[in-house]
Amino acid sequence: MTRASKKLIIANWKMNPLDLAHAKDLFIGVKETARTLSKVQTVIAPPFVYLSELSKLFSGHRIALSSQDVFWEKRGSFTGEVSPAMLKDIRVGYSIVGHSERRGLGESDEDVHKKIEAVTKEGITAIVCIGESDRDHTEGTHLAFLTAQIETAFRDVKKSSLSKIVVAYEPIWAIGKSEADAMKPHELHETVLFIKKILASLYGKQAGFKIPIVYGGSVEKNNTAVLLVEGMVDGLLVGHASLSVKEFTEIMRIAQKV
Ligand code: PEP
Repeated sequence: MTRASKKLIIANWKMNPLDLAHAKDLFIGVKETARTLSKVQTVIAPPFVYLSELSKLFSGHRIALSSQDVFWEKRGSFTGEVSPAMLKDIRVGYSIVGHSERRGLGESDEDVHKKIEAVTKEGITAIVCIGESDRDHTEGTHLAFLTAQIETAFRDVKKSSLSKIVVAYEPIWAIGKSEADAMKPHELHETVLFIKKILASLYGKQAGFKIPIVYGGSVEKNNTAVLLVEGMVDGLLVGHASLSVKEFTEIMRIAQKV
């Protein structure tokens, strides 16, 4: 099954750090390592307010910026929203859509679908988050849940847009804990195969299997290698561990080696 040639290592800073000076330090620290790693594509998703300034700090192709969310309309009376066109204007190459913390605030599968369409239309890569809750996991309904999430999100999304899509599988029960609570690699591998099957049923094997799948949920340096290798994913989405230059660059270096 096709795997991306470079590992995609995505930092989701969430609502951190508290000021621009720290955001710049963090970004520059990561950038120095990113440019030495030929087999890793690093993506940094800071809060919206820092994107513009951080976009002035890089020129290379081994590091890119992502937004943590986006709106589906291009412009107009949508107070508080940011459009894909605005992101493109400041060289933001990726956009996270459907993160479970946004879904927890009311975002629906339908909203996620509209965001995927809008983002890919602007040539921005959508990092589409999916993942089941603790309840689905324990009750064994997770596969049905994931199927519904994928089918709604990807409804009518054209094959030609797939090169601008990454799926981020983030089981909600594994997010924001420590490495011991991350998904077990064999379980991740099984779920990744299942997700690939759903995507293949929508787009055919060749196109479906090509869509990169990354894992997120309590990734730290000590479980990076095992999740990448045994989990058979194309990369990782890293939350809390991306707020330390030391920890995150170690994750990037391990991804370069495996
Ligand atoms: C996330 O929320 O996207 C995430 C992966 O967080 P953490 O790594 O802290 O579990």
